[in-house]
Amino acid sequence: MAVLIVGAGPTGLTAACALLANGIAVRVVDTAPGPATTSRALGLQPRGQEVLQRLGALGELPQRALNVRETAIHVNSKLVVDVGAALDSGEPRMLWIPQTEVEAQLRERLAARGGEIEWNTRLLGLTQDGAGVHADLGTGERASAEWLIGCDGAHSQVRKSTDIRFPGAPLPERFLLADVHADPPGLGTFLGPGGQFVAMPLPHPDGDLWRLMAPTDAEPETEPGEAEIIELLGRFATERAGFPDLRIRAVEWTSVFRFNRRLADTYREGRVLLAGDAAHIHSPLGGQGLNTGIGDAENLAFKLALVLAGRAGEPLIDTYQAERRPVAKTVLSATSFGTKLGFAGSATGRRLFAMLAPLLRLPALQRRLLRAASQLNVRYRGGPLAGQGTTPHGPQPGDRVPNIGTSDTEGNPAPLHDRLGTGWAVLTSEPGKEHLREATKRLGDVTLLHPETGVLPQICLIRPDAHLAWRGDSATELGNWLDTALCPEKGAHP
Ligand SMILES: Cc1cc2nc3c(=O)[nH]c(=O)nc-3n(C[C@H](O)[C@H](O)[C@H](O)COP(=O)(O)OP(=O)(O)OC[C@H]3O[C@@H](n4cnc5c(N)ncnc54)[C@H](O)[C@@H]3O)c2cc1C
Repeated sequence: MAVLIVGAGPTGLTAACALLANGIAVRVVDTAPGPATTSRALGLQPRGQEVLQRLGALGELPQRALNVRETAIHVNSKLVVDVGAALDSGEPRMLWIPQTEVEAQLRERLAARGGEIEWNTRLLGLTQDGAGVHADLGTGERASAEWLIGCDGAHSQVRKSTDIRFPGAPLPERFLLADVHADPPGLGTFLGPGGQFVAMPLPHPDGDLWRLMAPTDAEPETEPGEAEIIELLGRFATERAGFPDLRIRAVEWTSVFRFNRRLADTYREGRVLLAGDAAHIHSPLGGQGLNTGIGDAENLAFKLALVLAGRAGEPLIDTYQAERRPVAKTVLSATSFGTKLGFAGSATGRRLFAMLAPLLRLPALQRRLLRAASQLNVRYRGGPLAGQGTTPHGPQPGDRVPNIGTSDTEGNPAPLHDRLGTGWAVLTSEPGKEHLREATKRLGDVTLLHPETGVLPQICLIRPDAHLAWRGDSATELGNWLDTALCPEKGAHP
């Protein structure tokens, strides 16, 4: 087996879809008896949407998502700001869709690619030698693979088995969560006497499903059960949000959790790689966890595919950590800061938030925060694949390239990102045949595309994940750059 993927959450499923699309054989194992049924993450950010689109796994998620244009912040039952109201109507928005649906769509894509998930199959431990990775599975089998990707979540056994440290700390607040059928009179975050309360709608045919969430100071000796969580959330709805009487008709899911902020010391140990929550965990504020995991998986998959196809050497794999660990680091800092500010446990912290919240009325600040949350700004400038030097206009090497209109050599139109996902693209206003030849010789699947409007000053090589790999003029220089970037002589597979 080429790649063993441990964990069939969003990260593992994305990695599996992307590797299969590249013709790489994968095996996906998961300890759970079947797909998770609890909603968990509520938002697919624009970047996550793009990744799924490139893999052909977005399906009808945009149509099934809730049409929530804005959320709101209230202090002492008064509306302080509508977050999102200041955005232009064309600005990419988060899809309000639960993780269950995202995973279902990915599983559908996996099946269409001929992949399957082995449920009830726990990874117990692993060893590595020159031949690859050997995984001990709960079924009694010892499974071997050339590479193993640990997508097994926050308590990753893969991470523990490779002794990769996961330093960090818990954030102090404990949160109660419930997905319930009810009719709250408002949505967003509410700050009132005694703390915060969050009410967010979830898609449901009856239109009455809501996620309620609130921090609590209480440290009971035993974890509260469903009845107690519902009772407490009902009380907080009145005390903190000013909802007169929130009648909960039915409960879909309750949970109590404490957020941790942790980042793996390394994403790679030999032929074992970590991705998603196995590599980084943080507060769910801003809907970043699932989206960061999906981004990890896409980044890793196209590199692993090149190495396994013998087109690149193992050093290419190290660029995965070099590019993606800083992204997780930024997410950890931003979500921890936002959680400490927005969900402060102390009265002083809450007063500070009440004072600062009106600043969010500034359209420029809203745009900036929502753009950061969208992950469309993620870029790998200065990273090991971005090369040196900058160019005066347009995307720099390492930047995400927008989804511009293009046409192929036969004049067929298609958005740029629809041509990526598995393959690379040479994008140019010139004929570009020589550049295509140089790129294809080294990368295999490369498409020659021309922008539908405007003239590009230079020739661009676009990676499968829509980041700019190289821009320049000479085809020889492109070939030289690829030879350096791919390191094909260092440890490539035959
Ligand atoms: C209550 C809650 C609310 C959240 N809200 C948000 C939100 O609003 N926005 C957001 O972006 N994120 C949110 N998250 C986080 C988000 O759910 C995670 O970031 C996301 O699930 C990470 O995906 P993953 O595939 O990396 O890991 P996971 O989804 O954790 O998947 C790991 C998989 O590995 C399997 N597994 C574990 N151990 C083994 C083993 N030893 N052998 C085999 N299989 C194994 C598990 O069964 C599981 O299927 C929330 C999480 C929770 C719990």
